[in-house]
Amino acid sequence: MICEVGPRDGLQMAKSRMETGAKCDWIAALAKAGVKEIEVGSFVPAKLIPQMADTEAVVRFAKEIPGLVVVALAPNLRGAQAAVAAGAHRVSIPVSVSEGHSRANLNRAPDEQVAVVGQIVEWMESAGNPAEIEVACSTAFGCSIDGVVPEREVVRIAAALAETGVEQIGLADTVGYANPAQIKSVVRAVRREIGPALRGLHLHDTMGLGLANALAGLEVGIRDFDAALAGLGGCPFAPGASGNIVTEDLVFMLESMGFGTGIDLAALIAARRLLHEGLPAEPMHGQVAKAGIPRTYRQAA
Ligand code: ZN
Repeated sequence: MICEVGPRDGLQMAKSRMETGAKCDWIAALAKAGVKEIEVGSFVPAKLIPQMADTEAVVRFAKEIPGLVVVALAPNLRGAQAAVAAGAHRVSIPVSVSEGHSRANLNRAPDEQVAVVGQIVEWMESAGNPAEIEVACSTAFGCSIDGVVPEREVVRIAAALAETGVEQIGLADTVGYANPAQIKSVVRAVRREIGPALRGLHLHDTMGLGLANALAGLEVGIRDFDAALAGLGGCPFAPGASGNIVTEDLVFMLESMGFGTGIDLAALIAARRLLHEGLPAEPMHGQVAKAGIPRTYRQAA
């Protein structure tokens, strides 16, 4: 399953702001192309990330699209409550494994943020589980502030999260420093500890290894991947980063290998136009869009 994160991860780094109407048109086009899960924004103070100021309106729009799972990021209980009030189906909570990124991004130590996740889990249960919770373990493969992130730390944080009762835990290569061997090693180590609660990978293409890392994940049983149309975005702590792995290229790889995504590649590529119109200054990445869909391409059965 592919979760499109461009409207959240991509836009938060964009230099200009995308109008709400343009965002909604883009999200509708992605859903029409067959994308089943979209992270549409984040509930963070508008002062910090002005591009996300309209997240509530965007969630309200997106949840009316039939069959679409609407995901919203929330860094704390207040954000999670706002996401649920707006109608998000799933709330994604970031927990940095590295101390430096955790303090820079959330102003809390990793273990303090694990406690916040515990609070959100409790509140969600008391409210009758109106939405699913997923946690993304940021900087699980390296950090631009702290450098190497020890595998045992990733395992320790993942175990502490599983302890809170969260059932969906993902590993994020936030700054894009991972390599395929490392992906396999960390995935195996975390899975030994928390089993099927380990769900997906969130990868960035900083070093050009994004798809190789996705393939490594696929080979050790990962089936859920985040990606962004046109590889939008970047990372404030990794100059030169080219954003998330490119959704179009990931769909091409998976479908060509026989893994059905339910996404129509031509329609997905066509949706790039709406993104470009809404954010004309933003660079667009992606090999398949550049080269055109080859005649040998067949969608998986
Ligand atoms: Zn990211």
